[in-house]
Amino acid sequence: MTANPSCIFCRIVTGELPADFVYKDEEVVAFRDIHPRAPVHVLVIPTAHIDSLAQVRAEHQMLAGRLLQVVAEIARDLGVEERGYRTVINTGPESGSEVAHLHLHVLAGRQMRAMG
Ligand code: 5GP
Ligand code: ZN
Repeated sequence: MTANPSCIFCRIVTGELPADFVYKDEEVVAFRDIHPRAPVHVLVIPTAHIDSLAQVRAEHQMLAGRLLQVVAEIARDLGVEERGYRTVINTGPESGSEVAHLHLHVLAGRQMRAMG
């Protein structure tokens, strides 16, 4: 899985497009959402291009766990662990997903409504 030149998140990973990074390693990076829906709104993504959660297979097991671990680390580092945060993964057309590169939203800093 290499960078997809038509993917904005791949272009953020390569540094071609700017982003406000809060975390970086070889496998995972996180940066602030350009249109934040909460005082803290971070996107956590694999550096390798994966279209969405629907493409995740057994070979991605370590990476999938690592993404969640990074979410927990970032929440601690940003000081939102105690008050809490919401983690969202949109998958497929009916989810309203806009960017076809797997990402986890981390939303915090305001009271979220119950999911109904
Ligand atoms: P989705 O709707 O696919 O789950 O989430 C995509 C998210 O990416 C949206 O919340 C949107 O605001 C964010 N986004 C789209 N383009 C950019 C960009 O160029 N930079 C950053 N930082 N966020 C982006
Ligand atoms: Zn990509």
